[in-house]
This record gives sequence, C-alpha cells and structure tokens, in this order.
Amino acid sequence: MKRISSNGIIYKYTVYSDSSCIASVFTEEFGKLKLFMPKAFTKRSGVVKFVPSTLDILRKENSDLFKLYSYSPIAKYISFLEVPDISIRLNLIFDIIDSLLPLDESYEYLYKLILNINKENAHKALVYIIYIVFKVSGTLPSFYTCKVCNNDISSLSFYLEGDIVCDKCVDKNNSPVPISDEINNILKSLKCNSVYKDTVIEKTQEDKILQLFVKHVEVVTSKKLKSFKSFRELLCYI
Ligand SMILES: [Zn+2]
Repeated sequence: MKRISSNGIIYKYTVYSDSSCIASVFTEEFGKLKLFMPKAFTKRSGVVKFVPSTLDILRKENSDLFKLYSYSPIAKYISFLEVPDISIRLNLIFDIIDSLLPLDESYEYLYKLILNINKENAHKALVYIIYIVFKVSGTLPSFYTCKVCNNDISSLSFYLEGDIVCDKCVDKNNSPVPISDEINNILKSLKCNSVYKDTVIEKTQEDKILQLFVKHVEVVTSKKLKSFKSFRELLCYI
C-alpha cells in the first residue's frame, strides 16, 4: 500500500494513554475516514480540530483505518478554529456528517462548500451544507409536497416523524412541529443555488430551520444530537 497525500479536516478524536489517538477526519478525496495518529499528543504537538489540513496517510491493509504520517493545517483557514461563529457551526456540521454519512465515500462538493465558509456567510452556509448532507445521504425529507395528499406545500405545514404534512392532512394529536410560511420559503429556495444566494436569513429563522433539521437527524438516527444544545447556548439563541 502506498502513502497518499490528501486534504482533510479532523473533527473528532479519542486520545489513548500512549499519547496516540484515533481521529475522525472528513477528507476531500475519500470522505469520512478513521485515522490512527501515533504520538499525536506530545509536549511539542497537539491535534488541531476543524482547520483544513494536508494529510500524509496510508491505508492499513484489511482495515478501515488509515495511519497518519504527518499533517499540517493550512494557515489561511485558521479562522475555522479561531472565529467562534465558524467553529461552533462546524461542530454541528460535523456532528451531522458523522451521524449520516458512511465511511470511505467521497463527497467533493460537500468538502468544497465547507472550505467556502467565512465569517459573513457562516449562518447561510450552515443551513445549505446540512441540506446537502441530507441530499447526499439520501435522507432529505420531501419539504415541498405533503406526504399524505401529495399536494404542493403552499403555506403552513408540519414536520412529523420524518415527513412533511400539510395543514389539512395533519393529525394535531401527534404533536407535529409547525413550519411557518416564511420558513417554507427558505426551504424552497434551497432547491436552487442562485435563489438561495439572494435569500436573506435572519438569526431567528436560522434557529428555526436548524431545530427542524436537527429534529430530522434525530428521527433518522434515533439518537440525540448532543452538539445542538451547546450550539444554541454558545450562539445565544436561548
Ligand atoms: Zn396534505
């Protein structure tokens, strides 16, 4: 097996007593992978999360695991770690990527979208990126038509256990999550990149969409998304 150079973002790691660690990395070429990092934590070095880096890696034979030889964070992306508006959102993005995407499958477009996050577009990028994660993982709910009557969603709708249901068909006894008209319009704009570019999203709208998205991730995976609580606390939504 030969060594490969790849671009990737370390988003999670577990440290072992011999100062090695196993990291979860999202790479441009191979998507999500597990990386064994020998001597990751020494007096002189640590592991930098969230900053796109160049990685020198080798796939271990008969294993899902890669071994790291060296890595260097790319200086121009240091804001991914240092600007809380970005790093807090990346934490949520990677929690969702970790929950929904399989190992070892390439998602170059998604990787590029992540590289394009900056301080100004972080909240809009976050919504779009999660939408794309739903799309590429095959878990995107049909936001635009009612699951029951199949009519287009034109005004108020509801999210219920993975599906969208219109105002007429909804059974309110099942405590569905309402989706307002304004949120529906933003969801519709996600279908077309150029329309989404011109769409304005206020902070309260970002929060409502994320609550819906996170609820959907939790329904799909049957697991709580831990990062969302701290996300909302850190960005002062609650
Ligand atoms: Zn309906």
